[in-house]
Amino acid sequence: MSVAIIGAGAAGLRAAQHLEELGISYTVLEGSNRIGGRIYPFSYQNGFLQYGAEYVNGVDNEIYKIAKKNGLLSETEIDEDGYETVVNGKEVNDKLYEIWDKFESSTNEKLERDGANKKLSYQNVSQRIDFYFDAFIKAQKFTQSEKTIMENMNVLFKNQFQLEWSSPANDVCFLTMRIDIIYQIFQLCLKNFDIWDSGMDVDVEATLNQNGFKSILDELASKVPQNKIKLSSKVVNIDYSGIQPSTYNFQFVLSGSKVKVLLSNDQSFLFDSVIVTSSLGYLKQNKNTMFTPALPAQKSAAIDRFGFGSNMKVFLEYAQPWWPRRMSTVQISGRVGKVGTAPSLEDDLMVFQPSLWAKNVLVAWVAGNGPKEISKLSDSQLIAVLNNHLTTQLKDVYSVTKIQRIYRHNWISDEFSLGSYSYISNKTCQSNTDDIKLMRDPVLINRRPVICFAGEHTDSEMYQTVVGAARSGLQEADRIAKYYSSI
Ligand SMILES: Cc1cc2nc3c(=O)[nH]c(=O)nc-3n(C[C@H](O)[C@H](O)[C@H](O)COP(=O)(O)OP(=O)(O)OC[C@H]3O[C@@H](n4cnc5c(N)ncnc54)[C@H](O)[C@@H]3O)c2cc1C
Repeated sequence: MSVAIIGAGAAGLRAAQHLEELGISYTVLEGSNRIGGRIYPFSYQNGFLQYGAEYVNGVDNEIYKIAKKNGLLSETEIDEDGYETVVNGKEVNDKLYEIWDKFESSTNEKLERDGANKKLSYQNVSQRIDFYFDAFIKAQKFTQSEKTIMENMNVLFKNQFQLEWSSPANDVCFLTMRIDIIYQIFQLCLKNFDIWDSGMDVDVEATLNQNGFKSILDELASKVPQNKIKLSSKVVNIDYSGIQPSTYNFQFVLSGSKVKVLLSNDQSFLFDSVIVTSSLGYLKQNKNTMFTPALPAQKSAAIDRFGFGSNMKVFLEYAQPWWPRRMSTVQISGRVGKVGTAPSLEDDLMVFQPSLWAKNVLVAWVAGNGPKEISKLSDSQLIAVLNNHLTTQLKDVYSVTKIQRIYRHNWISDEFSLGSYSYISNKTCQSNTDDIKLMRDPVLINRRPVICFAGEHTDSEMYQTVVGAARSGLQEADRIAKYYSSI
């Protein structure tokens, strides 16, 4: 008996670890030339910056336990009091900020409540925020300039959801993304706030130190012998047409028929079962050619409906930090120096955070339309845009210096990710189906799990995360092990 695991990300490595422990034969086929998938640390100074996963959600899970055991939890946290907000080139004053803060806290509570309300939970988060914002503006007696500031604060507020949930927050965003069908119409629905659950009353994200996810990845990989991971092995087809249902003999199905896994270099291998951990973005794009016969219609439709975002980080390296020590984040909104209303990349460059340990690095967190626009630019073009944006928007607040170098990984154009992570979209909410379960359900023939599906998008409570991805890998490996030990 042998199992193919497609992908050496958190889900694939955790599945492999389980099969290794049980002594079940397996091979991990990884398309790229590295392990980790959307865990992607790169060496910088005396540590590792993370193109992908950065924080650990919840505490009652294996990933948090690895972080704790290996001393990876950061001693410094992002200081919530160190937020600076700059609108149209000016710092927002304390009085207005306090009024805004109260609105934001109460709206957050209302959104949570709305998510749990069946009549509202299918609604779009962005529209719901606007609904509360309109009522707030009507109830206050703002001057025109104060109103403009509040409107910009609302843009920043919605951007927080874009960044956290990876879903475009506003209509402008997806109208300008027509080129990429995958990301067009999948906005975040309120239901996410009800369904997503890290097992804690209040979600806590653990911040890691400079070794962070590099050490977590090392630990996951240490349990899987290197010779069982085949890098640069892109799977282009999984052919299970040879496995015929039998009404009387499971053994026959086990020994007599195999799944044929074809690589892009035309090599093919036979396995008894396969665990697919490709990202949802990859499945959206490739599912019609990747499986023979095609996936069941319900599963395929769920893959189409579920949301998949495009967040990314750009690391800006400076000779010296120009930001004050107390600043933990600067949020920028407004259009200083811009004429006209046409959307531009700068509109999506809103959040900048100093790295907690690489003191000369500022991290730009980019969501919405930004990643798509960024993927069209060379490093020098992007540096020019960022330099111009920061010096123009912050000129009355800070003495911004020039960026020396940037580091980035464009998840949206990474052929094996095609985006960042998943979320419950309006389409899923409207169809009233359990799309996570539909995406996770294995292809069974005579009870035999012929093709299993793992990956962050298949975890019912902690989709989006490494915790969910690892848990899903373990679960699918266990499903296969249990089946074979039962026959
Ligand atoms: C910018 C960003 C920030 C994030 N921040 C966090 C965070 O702070 N905390 C957190 O928990 N999570 C975060 N995430 C999400 C987290 O990284 C993912 O949920 C998790 O790593 C997904 O693991 P996975 O195994 O499901 O998929 P992946 O990591 O995508 O692994 C799938 C693997 O399969 C390979 N593959 C795909 N198709 C094929 C094929 N046809 N043939 C062979 N190989 C194939 C891919 O190359 C990849 O290695 C972030 C992600 C991004 C992009």
